[in-house]
Amino acid sequence: MSLYCRTFFRRKSFGCYRLLSTYVTKARYLFELKEDEEACRKAQKTGVFYLFHDLDPLLQASGHRYLVPRLSRAELEGLLGKFGQDSQRIEDSVLVGCSEQQEAWFALDLGLKSASSSRASLPKSEMEAELGGSFIKLRQALFQLNSVDSSLLFTAQALLRWHDGHQFCSKSGQPTQKNVAGSKRVCPSSKIIYYPQVKVWKKLSIEKLRKRWAWKWKTYSTLRPSTGPFPIAHS
Ligand SMILES: [Zn+2]
Repeated sequence: MSLYCRTFFRRKSFGCYRLLSTYVTKARYLFELKEDEEACRKAQKTGVFYLFHDLDPLLQASGHRYLVPRLSRAELEGLLGKFGQDSQRIEDSVLVGCSEQQEAWFALDLGLKSASSSRASLPKSEMEAELGGSFIKLRQALFQLNSVDSSLLFTAQALLRWHDGHQFCSKSGQPTQKNVAGSKRVCPSSKIIYYPQVKVWKKLSIEKLRKRWAWKWKTYSTLRPSTGPFPIAHS
């Protein structure tokens, strides 16, 4: 095999490995936030928030596209203050992802109108005026969003909807409590734990990545068995 070819395969394998290790780092961090209430509360202080109103995401028009504004904790507290709400409301947010730099992303619905919702719904048009955006039906905006944003918003919407629909225990009828990350709800009286059945948008891509990684590795080792990841020095 030529030197060029070998370099090419090494680079490709390295690229896959880097993607895989980034994924693993992010997955580990998200897992920690789902399990550790204090770590998640801490992440809420430095994280960013995607806003929804009755399950419609906040979007900003930019030419023919939509941008997805994200609020910092301070911006969110400022907004809540203007509508007579305190930061307690932030406890309703759910974890939807994180960046490579471990910046946690949360989604928060401030306008749920369902019968099960215990919190006050904030006025939509006043919020839109304050935020310089609009709460738009996700399906309506789908083609004006990039694929990363739309996957994230669909996951967030599904998770918010699930929480809204599982406010009460189906066995005891008692109110259920959400953990900080929103990865489960617990009924304090019957101790039943409810887990959301929400498709995680990253799952598919990592499955593909793993397959590709396995295939590349096989190709490489078959072609040049003596120079696997640990080259053997020939005397
Ligand atoms: Zn119960």
